[in-house]
Amino acid sequence: MADTLKCLIIGSGPAGYTAAIYASRAGLTPVLFTGKEPGGQLTITTDVENYPGYPDGITGPEMMEDFRKQAERFGTEVRYELISKVDFSGDIHTVWTESGEEIKANTVIISTGASAKWLGLESEQRLNNKGVSACAVCDGFFFRGKEVAVVGGGDTAAEEATYLAKLCPKVHLLVRRDELRASKIMQDRVFNTANIEVHWNTETVEVLGTEEVEGMKVINNQTQEISTIPIKGFFVAIGHKPNTEIFKGWIDMDKTGYLKTVPGTSRTNVAGVFASGDAQDNVYRQAVTAAGTGCMAALDAERYLVEHGII
Ligand code: NDP
Repeated sequence: MADTLKCLIIGSGPAGYTAAIYASRAGLTPVLFTGKEPGGQLTITTDVENYPGYPDGITGPEMMEDFRKQAERFGTEVRYELISKVDFSGDIHTVWTESGEEIKANTVIISTGASAKWLGLESEQRLNNKGVSACAVCDGFFFRGKEVAVVGGGDTAAEEATYLAKLCPKVHLLVRRDELRASKIMQDRVFNTANIEVHWNTETVEVLGTEEVEGMKVINNQTQEISTIPIKGFFVAIGHKPNTEIFKGWIDMDKTGYLKTVPGTSRTNVAGVFASGDAQDNVYRQAVTAAGTGCMAALDAERYLVEHGII
C-alpha cells in the first residue's frame, strides 16, 4: 500500500463501520482495519433489541455483518489486521500493522472501542452470554421478572443496579469493600431503591450453573463466610478499559485512557486524527451513540480533506 490513503479507519465496531459507510459514500476510499475482534464488543452479545431499524431485534454478530456489508458496498476495503503502532508527528500520519507494514494516511479515524473488565473466573467466562453479561442496558430486558446480581461499586454498577431494579424483583449488588466508589447521587439512588440489596465486603467465588446461570457462590471477605444465592443474571460492572494504548503520547486522553475530543466534534488534539465510539465515550457506550460519533468522524475527516485541498 504505497500511496497515501485519504482516510484510514482503525476499529470495526458500530463507530468504525459507520465512519466507513459515510467516508466511502463521500468518495474517500477508506481502508478499515478490523483489529483483533472484528465487529467489536457487539460480537460477544446475543440479541440486540434497542438498535433502531431492527423491529424484531437481531443478534450482535449478524448486525455487525450488516454493517460490514454496507460499508463494503460503497467501496470500503476491510482488512483483518491489527494496527499496533502509530506516528502522528507529521501532516501525513503513519501507522503500522502488527506484521510491520507501514501505511500512510491524510486522515485517521480512531474507533478502537473499549473492553469490559471481567473478574477472571472460569465460571464467568463459561457462562458468558448464558446469564453473564457486562451490559445491563443491552441484556437486562432478558432478565425481567428474575433475580439478578451486579458486581462493582462504581457509577456503572450503581447505574446498572438501578436500571435492573426497574425490571427485576431483586438486585443483589456485590461490593468488595465497605463503601461505594460511585458518586453521591448514584449512591443515594442505590440506597433509596427498595429492591436493591447491597452485600458489603463481598466477592464472587463462582457463578453457578451449567447451561445457564442458576446462582452464585459469594464470600464475605471479613468473616470468610460463604453463601449461595440463586440468581438468573450476573452482571459484571467493574469498569471498562478503552483500547487506546497505542495512542499514548500522541492523542490527549483522560486519566483512564479515554480519548479527548473537542466538544461537539470528533476532532482530537492532532489535526487530521478523529476519535469516535467507546474509545472516547465512557458515559453512553451504546451501539447507536457509537455509530453517531462514527458518522461525525467521517464528516469531520471529509471537511478536513476539503479544507486542506486534498480532495
Ligand atoms: P470505576 O473504576 O469507577 O469502578 C469500578 C468498581 O468496580 C469499583 O467499585 C471497584 O472496587 C470495583 N471492582 C474493580 N475490580 C473489581 C473486582 N475484581 N472485583 C470486584 N469489584 C471490583 O468504573 P465505572 O465503570 O463504574 O466508572 C468508570 C468511570 O465512568 C468513572 O469515572 C465513572 O464516574 C464514569 N461513569 C459515569 C457515569 C455517568 O456519569 N452517568 C456512568 C458510569 C460511569 P473498588 O472501589 O474497591 O476499587
